[in-house]
Amino acid sequence: MALSMRSWIDSANDPAGDFPLQNLPYGVFRRDRRAALGVAIGDRVLDLRACARIGLLEGLAPATVEASQTDSLNGLMALGRACWRPLRERLTGLLGDPEHRPMVDPLLVAMPDADMLPPALIGDYTDFYASIYHATNVGRLFRPDNPLLPNYKWVPIGYHGRASSIVASGAPIRRPSGQSKDAAEAAPRFGPSRALDYELEVGLFIGPGNRLGEPIPIHTAEEHIFGLCLLNDWSARDVQSWEYQPLGPFLAKSFATTISPWVVTLEALRPFRSPAFVRPEGDPQPLPYLTDPSDQQRGGIDVTLEVRLTSRRMRAAGTPPVRVSRGNLRDLYWTPAQLVAHHASNGCNLRPGDLLATGTVSGPTRDAAGCLLEITRRGADPLALPEGEVRRFLEDGDEVTIRGWSEREGAVRIGFGECRGRIEGLE
Ligand code: MN
Repeated sequence: MALSMRSWIDSANDPAGDFPLQNLPYGVFRRDRRAALGVAIGDRVLDLRACARIGLLEGLAPATVEASQTDSLNGLMALGRACWRPLRERLTGLLGDPEHRPMVDPLLVAMPDADMLPPALIGDYTDFYASIYHATNVGRLFRPDNPLLPNYKWVPIGYHGRASSIVASGAPIRRPSGQSKDAAEAAPRFGPSRALDYELEVGLFIGPGNRLGEPIPIHTAEEHIFGLCLLNDWSARDVQSWEYQPLGPFLAKSFATTISPWVVTLEALRPFRSPAFVRPEGDPQPLPYLTDPSDQQRGGIDVTLEVRLTSRRMRAAGTPPVRVSRGNLRDLYWTPAQLVAHHASNGCNLRPGDLLATGTVSGPTRDAAGCLLEITRRGADPLALPEGEVRRFLEDGDEVTIRGWSEREGAVRIGFGECRGRIEGLE
């Protein structure tokens, strides 16, 4: 698509906006109690079912037209690139060429009128640990002499998460209760978490799956990725540190995960690809099943990620949100293709709509740490907020918003919208 191509929808041409014609992320919205697939364009949502109804998708594969009229993205995700490309071209034409305005304009919904739902029925959710900076920082807090375990540089670490508690941006987050034990306490206690944290992450939605028993080779792994969203892996650190040995995270993570409602496709992210992480001298090269020359050259994705926080007191005082983390997706030790290939390498079947999260995205500097555990060094070094407050971990009323965007010289900036959640205390 020509760089200069613009939409007849004025708000889509705002150079600071998230949703220009070059983005066209997919989501699911509800209006008048009916759910439908939508495409974000400027400050509007294009109703895909309505497009199909009046024949605007005619000529596309029947399976594409059918999937466009459902109320989750799973059908479209399953179809693969051969169907995604023509649909994207059609939408670009409809929203770019002013001759379509009379037909398309009535099918647009103002964003505030669209109630956004999770974009897919998520059968399985896996959370990785792909940032070596996060792994090292967290490891140092728990094992000062031996921060990074010896397997880290060889095997992408992950755990199976909980799909049922994934919610769309804006849903309230209830402070979980759980079992925890301080070093000084003789026995554990059960009660509201005293160390609630966010984790800045990116989610990868799986497109076409693989058959049980048939691994996904690294060189085709990206064919299985439909697109990306922002993700907050809410974490109860006190529960986590007591329960995680020997089998890993469980109730410290499964109470809630927030995702941004718009799925930005790999096609839209094409201008923003970057080389895979450059491993320093002395690090092992990935094993052959995780190595592909084109993935090494452009398997990374340049997405700037930010976390902002407001407290109840800040909102009452009219103080703007304060930025607490800023990182970049390209700083991950493993590429998205490596995560997919590794996940399926034992024959595990991935299915359309499955969600793989990267793990906390942290960078090399302290302001690039993607969670409070790292920023405050497990509470030892509290974070000062405006209005005189400090934070070791999240308090009731705190609201955490993740944003992400890609920009570079010679390309139109695209964004992910927001991934937001506010902590509610227990009654
Ligand atoms: Mn996580």
